[in-house]
Amino acid sequence: MTQLSPLRVELGDRSYEILIGHGLLGDLAIRLNALFPTNRHAVLIYDSQVADMARQVRQGLLEPQAVGQSRRVTEIEIPSGESSKSTVELHRIWEQMLSARTDRGSIVLALGGGVVGDLAGFAAATFSRGIPLVQIPTTLLSQVDSSVGGKTGINLPGAKNSVGAFWQPSLVVIDTQTMATLPQREFISGLAEVVKYGVILLPELFEYLEGNVDRVLARNPDSLHRIITESCRAKAQIVQSDERETSGLRAILNYGHTFGHAIEATAGYGRWLHGEAIAIGMHMAARLAQLLGHIDDHFVSRQATLLEKLQLPIALPEANAEALWEAMQHDKKVQDGTLRFILPVGELGKVNLVSGITKDQVTIAIES
Ligand code: NAD
Repeated sequence: MTQLSPLRVELGDRSYEILIGHGLLGDLAIRLNALFPTNRHAVLIYDSQVADMARQVRQGLLEPQAVGQSRRVTEIEIPSGESSKSTVELHRIWEQMLSARTDRGSIVLALGGGVVGDLAGFAAATFSRGIPLVQIPTTLLSQVDSSVGGKTGINLPGAKNSVGAFWQPSLVVIDTQTMATLPQREFISGLAEVVKYGVILLPELFEYLEGNVDRVLARNPDSLHRIITESCRAKAQIVQSDERETSGLRAILNYGHTFGHAIEATAGYGRWLHGEAIAIGMHMAARLAQLLGHIDDHFVSRQATLLEKLQLPIALPEANAEALWEAMQHDKKVQDGTLRFILPVGELGKVNLVSGITKDQVTIAIES
């Protein structure tokens, strides 16, 4: 195991640590014993693509030195893919938790990407009115974004993330070794969220990416550690200031997402990976900001250059501005029928929630 850097999300009695390192899963049982000395039952909910890792976690939890007295592990495998964030899968988890005599003395371990994190997190939030949750993210996107912050939930047909709860984890364990099997396209998609943190809050992270593209794409361990730590630090800072998205600060995490969600919805879910749609969305948002005079040409081209060097898309072939505009009307930042966008203002690291934008302006940003 190398490089362990605990970060903390300070939320009063809901505060927790984010552990980041290479090979952390090896000590998971010891950490759980320290954090939950009396909890003897773990419900391990995992993505079917990481079944081997789940076996390793289960073995570790049952090893005599880790167990102390006795421990039970209930395993629940989730089929890979967004369609698992459904009432059907949630119901199946609840039933298996019930038959395994799960109670508030149990712990839910979510091992997988954002899909399993959101789904298992919601099961933990709702079963017995809430049991402790440990997030063990295995994709870059979930390591830099979804495992931190307590948003959990499922989709309803045609309505992504429409049912859910805020339920903070008790611990986040980010083992960069778990990404060894992650396909490169998924990895690159996660990099879009890292670029996002650079634009909204951390110019130094943006500059680091600019200067280290090859190392990042090659998943150099030091580079991985740095970009994940910086991203989690940014996410923690934002969540601490606006846990439930009431002050508007947490909304800055949605930079590129108003366009991006509309791209995902109109292209059909599955055509673009989430981060790919967000990369295109960030480019459109930057062009909109330029059109409104908030940033100059140089900002737009600098962001585009970085996204392209990271092998992310920035253009939408055959963009249909009318359809995208329609899809954007479902954005959760719509207020009194008016669309609002998170846009860069002035320099890297600064964004604002901007309203009063017309359909014509959005169309130009999409088509120019
Ligand atoms: P995902 O969970 O679907 O994982 C992507 C793919 O990688 C899947 O095919 C999965 O089976 C596979 N996979 C996972 N780990 C692997 C590994 N180590 N090796 C090989 N394959 C692996 O998707 P994601 O991109 O991690 O997350 C997307 C989800 O996260 C969406 O549902 C989105 O709504 C949600 N999300 C939530 C938040 C939040 O704050 N809660 C934030 C952003 C996104």
